[in-house]
Formats: sequence, structure tokens, C-alpha cells
Amino acid sequence: MGRVAVVTGGTRGIGHDISVALMEAGYKVAANFHGNVEAAKKFQKETNIPVYKFDVGDYDACKESVEKITHDLGPIDILINNAGITRDGTLHRMDFEQWDAVIQTNLSSCFNMSRCVIETMREHGFGRIINIGSINGQAGQYGQVNYAAAKSGIHGFTKALSLEGAGKGITVNAIAPGYVDTEMVRAVPQEVLNKIIAMIPVGRLGTARDIARAVLFLAADDADFITGSTLSVNGGQHRY
Ligand code: NDP
Repeated sequence: MGRVAVVTGGTRGIGHDISVALMEAGYKVAANFHGNVEAAKKFQKETNIPVYKFDVGDYDACKESVEKITHDLGPIDILINNAGITRDGTLHRMDFEQWDAVIQTNLSSCFNMSRCVIETMREHGFGRIINIGSINGQAGQYGQVNYAAAKSGIHGFTKALSLEGAGKGITVNAIAPGYVDTEMVRAVPQEVLNKIIAMIPVGRLGTARDIARAVLFLAADDADFITGSTLSVNGGQHRY
């Protein structure tokens, strides 16, 4: 097939499974990470997928890295904006750094990466941009005004960019995962997690593979009539 896919935050958690699923489906994959060099090395050794260390919140770093990936693997056809962080706290205790870090990493990253690939996608008449939002961007969550604002912003970004790409063969969609069993969710205290699981009609946390399955669906060449959509993958927890 030969299409080139970039997965931000692609070496751990949900991104790990997205990278592997795309590779297994025949795509040439580049996986980005930021600070966890050990996890990235392990991932590269196990999968043979090349890894690229850069901060998705830094526009110049994204530009430089997109150029490097293009040089190494070819022009980027598929972009999965997956990298994300949480810095939770109620607003009256949240400092600007907590706000800013989450907005930069979760939302500005979508601008940074999409801006760096969009011109080539338009020239080629093909592109798939898939942004990983969140159930908490759809429904809000206590202690997460920063995260909910960033994820909600992703849904608006997706809808607006889908209009710009539609005439150029570029689809832009979002996936809104519910609670998925990764390190991000393992940081939640167990008693809170038990309450969350009790609210999921399917009766379990999601798996990274559940999200990867949705990515493969939207990334396919013949998914070209699906654009501007948000696909909820949440075990029925939030019906939006
Ligand atoms: P993890 O914390 O398990 O992994 C996050 C990944 O993002 C890591 O690869 C990390 O790199 C990378 N990353 C973090 N900051 C940066 C940065 N500045 N630049 C580049 N890469 C960065 O998260 P999850 O797998 O749980 O989450 C993946 C996405 O799914 C996120 O956008 C998250 O908000 C979203 N999501 C997750 C849910 C869940 O229940 N887990 C629910 C809903 C949405 P490194 O390894 O170097 O730290």
C-alpha cells in the first residue's frame, strides 16, 4: 500500500496500539514521543517502527520533524493527533502552567502538526487527519477545565478543517474515547475508577486496541465519505 502514517504520542498507551495496528495493516508508520526515551526504545525494538522525539506543542520542532519523517519515509498521507497529557485540578487551584501545558500539548499540537502536513496533502489530493478527543471534551469533567477545553476545541477544529479539506480528498475526523486502560487512567485513584467503571454500560474500561480499531476504519482509502465526524468509543458511557 505504501501510505505513510504519523502517530503523535505513538510509542505508549493508545498511540502504541494505533501505531502497531497501522503497521499490521500495511502502512509505513512513524511514531512520535516526547520524554519517555526508555519506552520509545522498547517500542522501537519490539516493533521496528521508527521513533521521533519532539514536542508536539512546539511548532518549529513539529516542522523540522515532519521534514525529517518525509525525508525518511516519504510524504505524510495520514496524521493521527494522539499525544495528550492531563494536569488536573479544580479551577480555583489551577495555575497558568497547568492550563497552558494542557492546551499546548492537546490542542495547539493539532494546529502545529496539521499545518505542517496540510499543504502536501492538498497537493496530493489525499489525506486523513484523525484527532483523538475525549469523552471529557464532550461531557466535561470535574477538575479538568483545561483538558475539557482542549478536547472540546479539538472537536471544533475537526469540523472546521473538514470543510477546508473536503474538496481536496482530505478527511478530518475525531475519535472521542471513553476511559481506556492506559497509564493516564491508571493515575486515577482506584475508588474513583471503580465508580467510573460502574457508569460504563459495557462494564469495563476500553482497551487501546478498541481505539486503534476506530482509527483503522477512518484511515482507510475508502472511508472518503466520512469527514467532520466524531466517533465515540466509550462502551456506551456517553451517548452524544
Ligand atoms: P499516555 O499517557 O499513556 O501516553 C501519552 C503519549 O503522548 C506518550 O507517548 C507521550 O510521550 C506522548 N506525549 C505527551 N506529551 C507529549 C508532547 N508534548 N509531545 C509529544 N508527545 C507527547 O496517554 P493515553 O494513551 O492514555 O492517551 C492518548 C490520547 O488519548 C491522549 O490524547 C488522551 O488525552 C486521549 N484519551 C485518553 C483516554 C484514556 O482513558 N486513556 C480517554 C480519552 C482520551 P512519552 O512516552 O515520551 O511521554
